[in-house]
Amino acid sequence: MTEYGVFNDEGCIYVADTRDEAEAEAAKERAADDGYHADLISVHEMCPDHRDDEQPKDGCEECAAEVDEEDEDAANEDPGPSLEDYAKASRIVQSLIPGVRR
Ligand SMILES: [Zn+2]
Repeated sequence: MTEYGVFNDEGCIYVADTRDEAEAEAAKERAADDGYHADLISVHEMCPDHRDDEQPKDGCEECAAEVDEEDEDAANEDPGPSLEDYAKASRIVQSLIPGVRR
């Protein structure tokens, strides 16, 4: 079941079962606020994996952290062609040129 959280600049302050309920709570929070932080109050769908940590689906810090780690791993796995690769390619190209004896 999808849940919706009301977030302010410090994090999740309320979790509701429906977006309508969350929006209503957000409106209450904005009305109760002095106005300075009202713009920071927003409603987000909760991340299904990290809803217990009160993370929003569209900005889950847990998921964002995991994605970053995967990106680093992918970069490490593909360092591009090595000098050995170029040497090998060079030998193949040489062997394909007619009239060159090896
Ligand atoms: Zn998450």
